[in-house]
Amino acid sequence: MASLTLKDVGKKFGKTAALSGVDLHVEDGEFCVLLGPSGCGKSTLLNVIAGLVPQDKGIIELDGHSIDRLAPRDRDVAMVFQSYALYPHMTVAKNLGFGLRMRGVPKATIRKKVLDTASLLGIDGLLNRKPRELSGGQRQRVAMGRALTRRPKLFLLDEPLSNLDARLRSNVRLELKQLHTRLKTTIVYVTHDQVEAMTLGEKVVVMRDGEVRQTGRPETIYSFPADTFVATFIGSPEMNLYRGMILHNGEHPVFQGRGFHMDMGDLQLNPVDGEVDLGFRPEDVKIVEAGAETLPVKVEMISDVGSEKYIHTQIGREHLTLRAPKDASFRPGEIINLTIDLTRLHIFKGGVRMD
Ligand code: ATP
Repeated sequence: MASLTLKDVGKKFGKTAALSGVDLHVEDGEFCVLLGPSGCGKSTLLNVIAGLVPQDKGIIELDGHSIDRLAPRDRDVAMVFQSYALYPHMTVAKNLGFGLRMRGVPKATIRKKVLDTASLLGIDGLLNRKPRELSGGQRQRVAMGRALTRRPKLFLLDEPLSNLDARLRSNVRLELKQLHTRLKTTIVYVTHDQVEAMTLGEKVVVMRDGEVRQTGRPETIYSFPADTFVATFIGSPEMNLYRGMILHNGEHPVFQGRGFHMDMGDLQLNPVDGEVDLGFRPEDVKIVEAGAETLPVKVEMISDVGSEKYIHTQIGREHLTLRAPKDASFRPGEIINLTIDLTRLHIFKGGVRMD
């Protein structure tokens, strides 16, 4: 296994900057997830690391040694594609051993490695089948297995679960996590699914428009998003976010939003010039009895997701969503009173987090 370091990597396709100024460090044995919306440059970054697409700028190092000049097959990197890219005319065993055959590894060694990998992934009963005789989940395992038999220094996985249905997806996700715990392989995994990123990643890299917007542990990214993009991209339902001013006229600072204001209690806030974005997550809002410091809001709609309910309300001219227990019963039009956990507020200025 190996550590991976990228320094100031850039790639343009014509006028489109698919990657700009990307810095990244993945520790030896770490599970790193690249997360971002469609078109943000995730696959390009993976392809650049694999050597399938040359970068215009920057350095890529594996274990401290530059791999920029190495051809893809010499990088000791294995990639698993979304499409699996299995050879349809080859059996599972032949697919698993393909990379080793190409490298001239002796037959007996290939046979042993194929059997080891197949048993690791629980596909040893499928070795004589062709890909068309497999289910989606089994094909996905063979694609993973093909990368694993070579035991490369680095695994690059490009949305490997996106062809699976929701249930299978969550099972395979769990297996993948267990596999990583056992093998301690260095992985860079691409997804646009935040649940996948947060459950799999030891390190999550949030990307937008070819740039890295934040890198950190999942809980850090969730609790301390670096900017308003990360704040709203991570978390479902998404963070409530309001543009307004923080006023310091009275005893407490007050947030003045569009058509509502909010007492910010004893929060120690330095005066901020101009507008800010104030955010809080739906779980940091509680429904309470009306009181001097509660916020009255009007219920608009209720989404029941089984384990809990999301209450969509209106506050001033804005929407506010909160999580409520599954037995909560409110009707649209009803006025309810809220308190917000002020210790968990997020404040952004010019889109960037303020501490
Ligand atoms: P998705 O989740 O949809 O796969 P992504 O985050 O992986 O998206 P990329 O495929 O890396 O995004 O694309 C980043 C940008 O570069 C996009 O604007 C895309 O249109 C552009 N792009 C990618 N590959 C090429 C190419 N071969 N030629 C021209 N433009 C490209």
